[in-house]
Amino acid sequence: MGRLRDAVRESLDDPRFVAVGEIGIDLFEPRDVPRQERFFREQLRIARDFGLPVIVHVRRSADLLLKHLRRIEVPGGIIHAFNGSTQQADQFLARGFKLGLGFADLQWFAADTPARRGPTRADAGARDRCAVHRSRVAAHAGRRGAH
Ligand SMILES: [Zn+2]
Repeated sequence: MGRLRDAVRESLDDPRFVAVGEIGIDLFEPRDVPRQERFFREQLRIARDFGLPVIVHVRRSADLLLKHLRRIEVPGGIIHAFNGSTQQADQFLARGFKLGLGFADLQWFAADTPARRGPTRADAGARDRCAVHRSRVAAHAGRRGAH
């Protein structure tokens, strides 16, 4: 991590260097979670110390990421491929983050917002389509490696 800190310091004048990332925690197939957390915390400290935003990988780890982001405050960034709950989205947004949403994530997210929960036939149809879509997304996610 000392080398990473040095590399960040040496790159600060490079106009292409705008953030620290991609960093994060992946709990899809949880491996050595304490080690992932340790690295994530140190990467956050480096970003905080240099005033840099972060690009964050989240995979079934939104609550754990938020726990660390509450303790080590960074100047926002991007949560990439976000597909968590609206409550988790609100917490990331409140901390100055933008959410990266793919088309699949957008459908999922839109179906979970209060405006979509009305009892209209159109909404019921949207929910049905979304249920089918979710199973496809889950199947796809199961085949997909880390990104
Ligand atoms: Zn990623």
